[in-house]
Amino acid sequence: MPAHDHQLHEGESLREAARERLQDKGEQWTEMRASVFEALAGFDRPASAYDIAEAVSKAQGRRVAANSVYRILDLFVGANLARRVESANAYVANQHPDCLHDCIFLICDNCGQAVHLDDDKVSGGVRDAAAGAGFSASRPVIEVRGTCGECDTDS
Ligand SMILES: [Zn+2]
Ligand SMILES: [Zn+2]
Ligand SMILES: [Zn+2]
Repeated sequence: MPAHDHQLHEGESLREAARERLQDKGEQWTEMRASVFEALAGFDRPASAYDIAEAVSKAQGRRVAANSVYRILDLFVGANLARRVESANAYVANQHPDCLHDCIFLICDNCGQAVHLDDDKVSGGVRDAAAGAGFSASRPVIEVRGTCGECDTDS
C-alpha cells in the first residue's frame, strides 16, 4: 500500500470527506448534489444513473431526471467522489475521496456486488507496461469478473 494515510470512509465520515473534496475543487455541495451522493452511497452494489434517479426521486418526493443525475455523477467522477465501474456500466461512491488511486474492482457475476481494491503496485505495473508500449495511460481500468466469496459458499 502507498505510504500515505490511506483511509476508507463510511457513513457520515464519507459524506463529510466527499463534501470537503468537492468544495476544495471549487464546486458547491448543493442540496441536489448531496442527495445524489446520499443515494449513490446507499447502494450496496454499482448503481446506474437511472437507479440513482429513482432513489433520489423517491427521497425527494418529486421526479428527478436521470439526465441531471448523470451530469452530477460525471462531476463526482471528475472530482474523485465516485468511480465508474465500466463493465457494469454503473457507479459506486469512492470510499477514499481524499486520495487518488487507480481503483480495482472485482465484480460478482452472480449478485452484482463490486469489491473495491487499491493496489498501486498492480495498477502501476499496467501503467508501466503501457508506457513500455509507447502508450500514455491516463486511466487504467482494471476490473475482474467472477464469483464473490458470499456467492461461492455453496459450491
Ligand atoms: Zn490512498
Ligand atoms: Zn480505490
Ligand atoms: Zn456475489
